[in-house]
Amino acid sequence: MNIHEYQAKELLAKFGVPVPAGVAAMSVEEAVAATKQLPGPLYVVKAQIHAGGRGKGKFKELPPEAKGGVRLAKTEEEVRTAASEMLGNTLVTIQTGPAGKQVNRLYVTDGVDIAKEFYLALLVDRASGRVAFVVSTEGGMDIETVAHDTPEKIHTFAVDPATGFMPHHGRAVANALGLKGDLAKQAESLAAKVYDAFLGTDASQIEINPLAVTDDGKLLVLDAKVGFDSNAMFRHKDLMELRDETEEDPMELEASKYDLAYIKLDGDIGCMVNGAGLAMATMDIIKLNGMFPANFLDVGGGASKEKVTAAFKIILSDPAVKGILVNIFGGIMRCDIIAEGIVAAAKEVNLSVPLVVRLEGTNVQQGKDILANSGLAIVPANDLGDAAKKIVAEVQKAA
Ligand code: GDP
Ligand code: MG
Repeated sequence: MNIHEYQAKELLAKFGVPVPAGVAAMSVEEAVAATKQLPGPLYVVKAQIHAGGRGKGKFKELPPEAKGGVRLAKTEEEVRTAASEMLGNTLVTIQTGPAGKQVNRLYVTDGVDIAKEFYLALLVDRASGRVAFVVSTEGGMDIETVAHDTPEKIHTFAVDPATGFMPHHGRAVANALGLKGDLAKQAESLAAKVYDAFLGTDASQIEINPLAVTDDGKLLVLDAKVGFDSNAMFRHKDLMELRDETEEDPMELEASKYDLAYIKLDGDIGCMVNGAGLAMATMDIIKLNGMFPANFLDVGGGASKEKVTAAFKIILSDPAVKGILVNIFGGIMRCDIIAEGIVAAAKEVNLSVPLVVRLEGTNVQQGKDILANSGLAIVPANDLGDAAKKIVAEVQKAA
């Protein structure tokens, strides 16, 4: 789960991380009023969307020479202009894709004079299985570009969970940023606090870009992107309230309501599978047979009729889907129950694309009989390889 920049900064501030003062605004008037609560004379009006690259982004509704989603303003009037040009309009950045994202919220912050911009992130490093710092002197720009062009400018070091954050980690951060004296001290303290925030919120990523050194020698978080481990959200009810559903993919949102693990992909074959491992294997074998999966979908161990129906509807609401492959292992749930669910769901949603079903497990024969006697054009398959071949053949035949 991801949150907006203003929420991320408010959260980091609770852990003592230095951030500029700021006020979130849902309307132009609120944005203008926000200036009264800020010291001035410089303000920054920032579009709040779950995507980075806003500064260099473009608004679809504005001429190409218009400024992007992060604007400096010196007067209330400039704040008003910036806010009215952003709210309700669609911001396209390198991270939103060509469709862009509608801006519904703004953040008006105290503007600072920047001497230097750094990059600092914390994430779960899969290679070491530890929380790791990623630090670079090349802040403010796209870190992927830095990683590609000058990888030696990115420093990564993991924290041993047995010791937790130690003073030497702080010194390593300061050192990697080339900081000395008081600024080094600020970096050490900031790194410790960001680490606390990461563990304390079960974050999966905290990305600060830029981490700025101001003209008056202060280290300050100017932009923050925070994501949490969804599996830990049950113990962070307060953080769940920060969820902004308008920022999420509508199909993934619908799937989450039924507790289905769904991820939209680019291919043509919709998949409905129980168990993440089986789902991965199913996607692989579709590729092996020359086509691509349209989604990852794990209906889970106890797939009820309601879940199967919801899963069917989600798969079919994707216009890219040209065929569906159901691959279910009836272990906890018996195959005959699953077959009944598939038949009921297929009837309810008025299936319009080829459907191949592979069932295996308890009561498999009864399950197959139910599918065969359903009167629906369901193509049965005997094993995973057979199922993949059949769905690819059916889709190609229908094309
Ligand atoms: P992003 O484009 O979505 O990553 O948004 P950022 O919040 O990182 O802002 C983009 C750029 O705007 C930063 O890299 C800074 O150069 C600039 N910026 C942001 N806040 C301030 C500020 O308070 N003062 C000044 N002078 N520039 C700022
Ligand atoms: Mg940024």
